[in-house]
Amino acid sequence: MEAKTEHHYETDVVIIGAGNAAMCAALAAGEQGARVIVLEKSPEKEKGGNTTYTHGSIRFAYNGTEDIQALIPDLDEEDLRMTDFGSYSEEQYYEDLCRMTNYKTDPELASILTGESFDTMKWLTQHNIHFIPIYGRQAFKINGIFKFWGGMILESVGGGHGLVEALHTEASNQGARILYETMAIDLLHDDEGIQGVKVKEQGRSKTIRAKAVIIASGGFHANVEMRTKYLGPKWDVVHTRGSRYNTGEGIAMSLNIGALSTGNWSMAHAVTGDRYLPDFQEGFQRLSYPFGILVNMDGQRFLDEGADFRNYTYAKYGRLILEQKDNCAWQIFDGNVSHLLREEYKGKHVTKVKANTLEELADKMEGINKEKFLKEVAAYNAAIDDSVPFNPNEKDGRKTAGIDVAKTNWANRIDTAPFEAYAVTCGITFTFGGLKINERAEVQSTMYQKINGLYAAGEAAGGLFYDNYPGGAGLMAGAVFGKIAGEQAAQFAKTALAEKV
Ligand SMILES: Cc1cc2nc3c(=O)[nH]c(=O)nc-3n(C[C@H](O)[C@H](O)[C@H](O)COP(=O)(O)OP(=O)(O)OC[C@H]3O[C@@H](n4cnc5c(N)ncnc54)[C@H](O)[C@@H]3O)c2cc1C
Repeated sequence: MEAKTEHHYETDVVIIGAGNAAMCAALAAGEQGARVIVLEKSPEKEKGGNTTYTHGSIRFAYNGTEDIQALIPDLDEEDLRMTDFGSYSEEQYYEDLCRMTNYKTDPELASILTGESFDTMKWLTQHNIHFIPIYGRQAFKINGIFKFWGGMILESVGGGHGLVEALHTEASNQGARILYETMAIDLLHDDEGIQGVKVKEQGRSKTIRAKAVIIASGGFHANVEMRTKYLGPKWDVVHTRGSRYNTGEGIAMSLNIGALSTGNWSMAHAVTGDRYLPDFQEGFQRLSYPFGILVNMDGQRFLDEGADFRNYTYAKYGRLILEQKDNCAWQIFDGNVSHLLREEYKGKHVTKVKANTLEELADKMEGINKEKFLKEVAAYNAAIDDSVPFNPNEKDGRKTAGIDVAKTNWANRIDTAPFEAYAVTCGITFTFGGLKINERAEVQSTMYQKINGLYAAGEAAGGLFYDNYPGGAGLMAGAVFGKIAGEQAAQFAKTALAEKV
């Protein structure tokens, strides 16, 4: 156990943050025998940052059903009979990262993420983190078989809450000490490198002496000033999803001591979700748009709803809604596809109108240009190539022809009552820019050297995501680089200790 004086603690590794990246780092450092203190800015009941808000969906490379059985040994015969898991190679994962980021992803970090993803999943299951297949959201049942698509097939048991509870339980059992309502405010450092952290623990200023510090405190999506400064106009008033505690201090305090910034500071993961839901509440997203259409207040379509599977487009489509008049839009579905809508469309806080005719629907859609909207739907309906059958499990190629904004898959006529329209806006999920790390998760300085004893993982580290993002890669990146950061920080602390003896 670490020694405690009146206002100070002393330990081997301090981890700033208590979400997925932080707790994976805590587990890995603990495994190496390091004494670990985890700092969580929030009260215990809000612990876990953005990780808590996730479904726990996680993207990893696998070779087929046997790999899935290795992660979920209790899949029974019936599960196996009705499921086509397919496969998702490291190469496909790497290629997806490159394609999504317009080939800007850091190749070294991307190959570590993709190459270590399966082994890290196994490591998590060895630490009592359990997963289940994402039936329904990532696979629809067709002819009695669930066929998975889009490279993302498992989620943590209990979603994000379940993941955070399981990680905290495991880390605590392993001896990690978690300090709640304790905010890191500055790094202690000298010419030798990092010496610890200054904190406010329940209002009291304290110092924690440590041999290594891991920045796992997320990005700056909840900091209005930083958002406006780095992402630009309109991002100050955007709906804010996820944790209100990710306000960028971990990144800022590292930059203050000479850390190098990297990645896509002017872009963020931003999705389409309920226009009127207050910030930081769960249930914001509306992600079934591939099966309908999106129109702005002028009644015009402005993006290809079927460009790709949902988890390859959702992170960039929020941004396109922010560019529309009043920063909002309507999602439209008809009776033929309403059974395909995700569970979030059925919740209590859903801004929705419903009608038996499109005219009646338009009358209920606040702010819409009715005439243009009806013309747009008619033109869209007339442009669909019916010769190709609709298949929600595949990029079916059922597309439009001859209209300005094409829909390239899942194009179905909007012609069957009841019609439904959902009012949506843009919601920021997390920021892409962060600290430059190397393959050992060591934070680099603006002199292109490592800062001794400083590590980063998760959203706090930049370089992986640019422009867009493949769903499920956030948790995987946090786990892979959190594990590496924990191992490396513990090794560094051991060496530092040995040198002093
Ligand atoms: C609604 C929503 C759904 C999502 N769904 C998915 C999904 O299904 N799959 C996926 O891969 N990704 C998903 N993401 C993205 C995912 O949440 C993140 O990529 C991932 O959880 C980030 O993990 P992290 O550990 O880096 O940060 P976080 O989990 O956000 O943890 C940051 C931690 O740092 C703490 N902290 C911040 N500042 C300080 C400070 N100064 N001192 C002390 N502590 C501090 C915070 O309180 C928090 O505990 C989703 C995000 C949201 C918001």
